[in-house]
Amino acid sequence: AANLRLDRLLANMGYGSRREIALLTRAGLVVLDGVPLRDADQRIPVTPDLAQRMLIDGEPLDPPPGLTLMLHKPLGVTCSHKEVGPLVYGLLPERWRRRDPALSTVGRLDKETSGLLLLTDDGALLHRIIAPKANVAKRYRVTLDRPLTGGEAAIFAAGTLMLEGEEKPLLPVDFEAEGETGAVVTLHEGRYHQVRRMFAAIGNHVTALHRDRVGGLDLPADLEPGAYRILDEADIAAVF
Ligand code: URA
Repeated sequence: AANLRLDRLLANMGYGSRREIALLTRAGLVVLDGVPLRDADQRIPVTPDLAQRMLIDGEPLDPPPGLTLMLHKPLGVTCSHKEVGPLVYGLLPERWRRRDPALSTVGRLDKETSGLLLLTDDGALLHRIIAPKANVAKRYRVTLDRPLTGGEAAIFAAGTLMLEGEEKPLLPVDFEAEGETGAVVTLHEGRYHQVRRMFAAIGNHVTALHRDRVGGLDLPADLEPGAYRILDEADIAAVF
């Protein structure tokens, strides 16, 4: 584990300026294993269990850097500052928006897509998940405007479908019909608006889109839209 100066660690976690942290420590409000840390410039080993061992003004410390979580993204919030509307980060505790390293989304979901979205402050992990060679599958439940024709599975499995404005055909997509106007599709890549454009390319139209699985990690049934859960090592391992 990295050793960080206490004031640097807490300032980077959004608890205030280094000067404000120094005031907190002097006041005895930063407590580790029951002992007030009076010295803001001492070095602290940053381990995941720090959140269980440190109190800041009587409250458990936020999860230290190395934070990965799953969010049940609701409709109407965006993953990107370039889009209009409230950001997914607004669903997290306010202090978390001041973290350095910052949390970022692992890939994106459209504003009008709901479901499983991962966020992490671990850049190496982020790249491991989105790297094409990692081949992390993403599963979507799709609602369509028009009835299925029965030809969809074969078209998507062929690996020959071209999207408007692109040069390379899509990789094969797993497709399962669900009733007349529903489907479950699993992607092995992530092109821009892929699911919507895929169905547009075969003359249908997506009216609702929900991601329920990333790699081997499922969106838990009890995680409500807008709620998040911190992931442990085993959860993260399930992604790959
Ligand atoms: N495909 C889409 O069209 N939108 C998403 O948000 C994800 C996959």
